[in-house]
Amino acid sequence: MHNLKINNLSVSIGDKKILDNFNLEIKSGEVHTIMGPNGIGKSTLLKVIMGDDTYTITNGDILFDDESILDKTVDERANIGIFLGLQTPIEIEGVSNADFLRTACSTKNKNNFKLMHFIKELESNSDKLKLNKDFIHRDLNIGFSGGEKKKNEILQMYMLKPCIVLLDEIDSGLDVDSLKIVGDNVTEYKKDSNCGILLITHYQRLLDYIKPDFVHIMVDGKIVKTGDYKLVKYIEDNGYNEYMDSSKKTEKLGTCIVRESLKNE
Ligand code: ADP
Ligand code: MG
Repeated sequence: MHNLKINNLSVSIGDKKILDNFNLEIKSGEVHTIMGPNGIGKSTLLKVIMGDDTYTITNGDILFDDESILDKTVDERANIGIFLGLQTPIEIEGVSNADFLRTACSTKNKNNFKLMHFIKELESNSDKLKLNKDFIHRDLNIGFSGGEKKKNEILQMYMLKPCIVLLDEIDSGLDVDSLKIVGDNVTEYKKDSNCGILLITHYQRLLDYIKPDFVHIMVDGKIVKTGDYKLVKYIEDNGYNEYMDSSKKTEKLGTCIVRESLKNE
């Protein structure tokens, strides 16, 4: 059993505060999802957990199995089993997908890396994700479609075998068939590995395939409500307005009024 605890975490970039006393605990076998309006710090949260040093932590701690990971580098965090599937995967010209994965896996499993086993796993996981045979030999994410990039993040997850999986809008850019493939594979990996999952999504459709145990609404850098699956439907019907503070509500209303008046011109 593993756990990831985020305690009273505050994060800034420059003088802009993004996370504000944020708290969350994820245990093995649990699926958490965070939903919230654009630009409120969801991706920032995941990047800070993974160790992105663009952001300044001004308060709080991140603990893995009750030990702080704040002084660990990104690769050290990956080595203990934390994995981030990025919202916008990075393209690297001149590095093949297979070489990238082989380097990542052999670094993670230093004493236990077997090339033949790696190749077999890579092929069977690519098949599960319905990726073409040539896919692993292409440059990392170069010319990949939106859907292929997202499937490639899941391929990395399969190969690195993390115990805490963070997925940032893994459903964006996926057609209905790819959405099912990605969703089913994440669920299968969770069943086999008993990993803990933190998903960020805007839509119920992904959660039809990956059932969340906890649904959190995030506004202004912190969680303002936690519920179960029913909360997803409620948000789809009602939006986030009731969770925003009153100044933001007026601002939103103002924008709508301006838009409506422009439409009428
Ligand atoms: P979300 O994922 O919830 O849409 P983000 O975490 O990407 O939001 O961003 C939260 C806020 O922080 C936004 O206002 C965004 O512009 C700002 N931000 C995030 N990363 C940076 C960065 N590297 N430089 C400047 N501002 C940033
Ligand atoms: Mg984001």
